[in-house]
Amino acid sequence: MTDFIPPAKPLIGEEERAAVDRVMRSGMLAQGPEVAAFEQEYAEHFGLGRACVAVNSGTSGLHLGLLSAGVKAGDEVIVPSFTFAATANSVALTGATPVFADIQADSFCLDPVSVENAITERTVGIMPVHLYGHPADMAGLQAVADKHSLQIFEDAAQAHGASLGGTPVGAFGSFAMFSLYPTKNMTSGEGGMVTAATPEIERLLRLYRNQGMQRQYENEVVGFNNRMTDIHAAIGRVQLTKVDGWTKQRQSNAAYLTAHLEGVTTPPVADGAIHVYHQYTIRVADDRDGLAKALREEHNIGSGMFYPIPNHRLAPFQSPVDLPATEQAAQECLSLPVHPSLSDADLERIVTAVNALARAGA
Ligand SMILES: *Cc1c(COP(=O)(O)O)cnc(C)c1O
Repeated sequence: MTDFIPPAKPLIGEEERAAVDRVMRSGMLAQGPEVAAFEQEYAEHFGLGRACVAVNSGTSGLHLGLLSAGVKAGDEVIVPSFTFAATANSVALTGATPVFADIQADSFCLDPVSVENAITERTVGIMPVHLYGHPADMAGLQAVADKHSLQIFEDAAQAHGASLGGTPVGAFGSFAMFSLYPTKNMTSGEGGMVTAATPEIERLLRLYRNQGMQRQYENEVVGFNNRMTDIHAAIGRVQLTKVDGWTKQRQSNAAYLTAHLEGVTTPPVADGAIHVYHQYTIRVADDRDGLAKALREEHNIGSGMFYPIPNHRLAPFQSPVDLPATEQAAQECLSLPVHPSLSDADLERIVTAVNALARAGA
């Protein structure tokens, strides 16, 4: 049988190994100069025009971002249900309540109309997810936020380098979080990068990350140990020099898939949006699970379902809301391999297999 095509593949090279070795030899392992350099380089690289604060995971980044933006028990934050559970988890961890809104069918991202309908007197913010690397409808969401005096918080976990109308994601909200988990578009091993819209949010992020201390043993607030280590930052700094090339390769792989797939719905890109294809997600209207199983068993091709159970139906959240676009996406979504290590032959195999299965299923 042909080689297995994995659904994702972290790329770690000699340069990352050398960087880790350099830090290990320095003897300074915890948060230090590598983290500071990574924060600066990250902000510059993506043209964010604001401060970045590195933390030990994307989820911690969302949690500390929400706390720094003033979200507290009794508040409500509107989130999509069609996302990874970390989005709603981070809201719940502050003591606030995640309130679920529906998505736009084409972008899979939060729908401003559904968001507006979910607003109550307790709502303090809206947290869109730039799902799969496609920016959410920030103009529509900003209009709703402005009308109701709400903050916007960006879950940009999957969207390093994505932009809308020339503005990079991560520069829209009170804060934004990029995940650096190994399967994301770039990694530090584990980690998260948080952008801050104001010096005060930046200050609070740095405090919460480090036990509430800016100066040692002069604790100002109750904080966490959510620091990034210099070892992880060193990996991230190297990845930063490679991510643009990988993104171009993802975009070129996606263009090939969109040009050649038949019998399934390929992912559109909104006007003015740059999609960085963390996932390339098609819709299979009929028997998505069967197609995924056949891809794996008959063609040795991996795929993913992100996400098969909407968050509002997960055990911790159990919300009676009716989200038809979310339910349909959860049933139809299938993410095909799009990562930068695919060969031309891999892409041809994926297209041939999906088209044959879609034809047979029709
Ligand atoms: C990965 C991810 C997170 C969490 O990031 P971690 O670094 O794994 O903690 C949050 N939201 C979304 C949409 C993600 O994909």
